[in-house]
Amino acid sequence: MSTPTIPTQADVVVIGGGIVGCSTAYHLARDHRRNVLLLESGRLTNGSTWHAAGLVGQLRTSASITRLLKYSVELYSKLEAETGLATGWKQNGGLRLACNQDRWIEIKRQATTAKSFGLEMHLLSPKEALDLWPLMDPSDLVGAAFLPTDGQASPSDITQSLAKGARMHGAKIVEGVAVTGFRIENGRVTGLDTTAGPVACEKVVICAGMWSKEVGRLAGVSIPLQPVQHQYILTEKIDGVSPNLPTLRDPDRLIYFKEEVGGLSMGGYETNPIAWAEAGIPKNFEFQLLDENWDHFEPHMIQAIERVPALANAGVKQMINGPESFTPDGNFMLGEAPEVKGVFVGCGFNAFGIASGGGAGWALANWVETGEQPMDLWVVDIRRFAGLHRDDAWVCERTLEAYGKHYSIAWPHEEYKSARPRIVSPLYERLKAEGAVFGSKLGWERPNWFAAPGEAAEDVPSQGRTNWFEPVGAEHRACREAVVVFDQSSFAKFEVSGPKAAERLEWVAANRVARGPGRLTYTQMLNSRGGIECDLTVAQIADDRFYVVTGTGFRTHDGAWIRDHLGTDGVTFTDVTEDWGTLSLMGPKARDVLAAVTDADMSNAAAPFGSVRDIVVAGHPVRALRVTYVGELGWELHVPLAATGDVFDALMAAGAPHGIRPAGYRAIESLRLEKGYRAWGSDITPNDSPVEAGLGWAVKLKSNLDFLGRAATAAIASAPLKKRLVGFTVADPDCFLVGRETILRDGVPVGYLASGGWGYTVDAAIGYGYVRREEGVAEDWLTAGRYELDVANRIFPATLALGPLYDPAMARVKA
Ligand SMILES: Cc1cc2nc3c(=O)[nH]c(=O)nc-3n(C[C@H](O)[C@H](O)[C@H](O)COP(=O)(O)OP(=O)(O)OC[C@H]3O[C@@H](n4cnc5c(N)ncnc54)[C@H](O)[C@@H]3O)c2cc1C
Repeated sequence: MSTPTIPTQADVVVIGGGIVGCSTAYHLARDHRRNVLLLESGRLTNGSTWHAAGLVGQLRTSASITRLLKYSVELYSKLEAETGLATGWKQNGGLRLACNQDRWIEIKRQATTAKSFGLEMHLLSPKEALDLWPLMDPSDLVGAAFLPTDGQASPSDITQSLAKGARMHGAKIVEGVAVTGFRIENGRVTGLDTTAGPVACEKVVICAGMWSKEVGRLAGVSIPLQPVQHQYILTEKIDGVSPNLPTLRDPDRLIYFKEEVGGLSMGGYETNPIAWAEAGIPKNFEFQLLDENWDHFEPHMIQAIERVPALANAGVKQMINGPESFTPDGNFMLGEAPEVKGVFVGCGFNAFGIASGGGAGWALANWVETGEQPMDLWVVDIRRFAGLHRDDAWVCERTLEAYGKHYSIAWPHEEYKSARPRIVSPLYERLKAEGAVFGSKLGWERPNWFAAPGEAAEDVPSQGRTNWFEPVGAEHRACREAVVVFDQSSFAKFEVSGPKAAERLEWVAANRVARGPGRLTYTQMLNSRGGIECDLTVAQIADDRFYVVTGTGFRTHDGAWIRDHLGTDGVTFTDVTEDWGTLSLMGPKARDVLAAVTDADMSNAAAPFGSVRDIVVAGHPVRALRVTYVGELGWELHVPLAATGDVFDALMAAGAPHGIRPAGYRAIESLRLEKGYRAWGSDITPNDSPVEAGLGWAVKLKSNLDFLGRAATAAIASAPLKKRLVGFTVADPDCFLVGRETILRDGVPVGYLASGGWGYTVDAAIGYGYVRREEGVAEDWLTAGRYELDVANRIFPATLALGPLYDPAMARVKA
């Protein structure tokens, strides 16, 4: 076969002709009129796409993913009319079963989430579910849910239809050409090497499915995914299977069903999945399946026959065992790779790439075009991963656990168990001895809470009040009434230095941050739409040196955002995370404890709120940042990592007379909810302006300094707000808020909670969410309403809070 010819230049090259690559090329060409070239090493669809079952569900726990899935459904339902190529799209609805009370609560929570996200979802009795799916045995059903706008499609047909649409809008698609290398200059992609010669380009989008990890490595880009075997069967015709039978998910039995030419497809998610191609994907793996593994599939078969007895006598036409890429947290990956400018990814679709393809392609095309995510896509952002994810063995182990949880009940606050511990702070053994129950964040073990002697030091999952409820309450009260130490060594820390450091940081940060050495500032960093990309503190430690501290999970994301927008002219960015341990000493007795271990003057005059001081504790240099995320007097003590243990011991000894104790992240969450401090990723995201989030006070609009996002923020601030972040309390102890609960004003949905939990001092459930209204959300309109929260389909009266629930005058923080 002769080698195809390709253009020598394109604006954007998309690598891979599965559903995601074709959708991305389609949207780049249709929406942005880009000169797009799609290169496919084999034939379109020959990767994971051709053998997918084709279920298209829409509801996810993330509003953003749900929005993308809804977009897919809209696109698939009209694509044929545009391209003339059928897609097999059928809106036959989706049914989801619950066979126990915990699952039923989960489904009811999902129904509330669906309501919050504007997705139609009905709760059904077993009898109503049976009416929709007469072939099933409903005897163990507690209830079910039905999403009428879900559906199914033919994966290959949609992909061909998207490819045709892409060509119609001017994209060039070439099959039989593999990308073999990247050309990179000064950290930016300039072109690709391929089996048909080089091509110059400004941007590249890696949509190479499970090959993406290998393709990414050609550019030095880490793409943590693992191919895993996934099986389903296709049966002969079965009496009673009608073409409009809804798709059926039976998570308690780990299986799903879909109508297929008068028969059924049935597959499932084993709790003991099998990884594939750990040593690399075989060459020329095109339109191929893996060997049937009936032994592994047998538990699904048994469960499926119990649910659908007619299956026992149905002939099996084919068993499909196809590999698909899965990720360590069950979500796909979109966005610009932090390692190389201009290289974007869209891969790792965890067996919902057909459902996601339309929306993911739309979002990715937008991201490629503008350089900014078009909406909050943090849950799927490639920058949620870090250096640890370059370790294939770690990624494989964690990915298999995530796969095994696909259908398990998603318990609130559940932690992964595999591949731990990975990164530990110097205090790990000490805190373990104190009864710490750890969680893991970006590989770091972090104490969530502390069990008392004799108490089981482990999480017992629950949809209601958990076994850690009281212990966390004790830590919370110790912080409010005395003093505690939080080990926050996993915080991400950066240094920005150089003659232009101040000037460039002022451009990136929304608040005044270059206020002189010794000053510390809380600030957001905004995108061009005025949305919040980062939320962090900046301490100025010299005229030309700044120390930036942000959340553990945001290390790659925030680091990339700051580095990219600082530039390199007269400024140097360094990640110093591993250099420093962090002990947060918080509570009204914090000054007494600190004064006992240092000679430095820590009085309010010498070390006021918003200051940074270099002091000495237990013979070690310590950077003391007077700041708090819990609403009490306190310091973040940044300690050379190796000295963290010594400083901790000194604090614990000095604090003993005050009843000092270590406390964990769940107490921090409860404390910050009461104080109304925002959490990035939930309360504040790239969708939200500081003005809408009640953080307008932290934006330097009154100064004449220009900064990224200024124009958009000024425009938002000068018009009536259409949404506003507000708080709610619910006194009922049976109310468990976890986020996504619907907010009702005078009985009408006006938004949903971004975050929720329990406040032990205010003794109430607390939730924060945006209330939305086209005509505006002025304070008098807000306060005139009567509020309720829909929590798992139960309505609780709620009290509106427009300010902090705790210490609104900041008296404690500034004490
Ligand atoms: C058994 C099974 C059932 C499934 N059922 C469903 C379902 O019901 N619903 C659902 O939503 N999802 C389902 N999925 C998941 C779905 O199939 C995938 O998520 C989706 O197909 C991924 O599409 P993609 O475009 O990312 O990858 P792929 O379809 O794998 O496409 C990647 C392409 O990149 C090409 N490529 C690789 N390397 C290069 C290179 N160097 N140069 C050029 N091209 C290259 C490959 O040849 C390939 O064609 C299922 C998956 C499996 C395995």
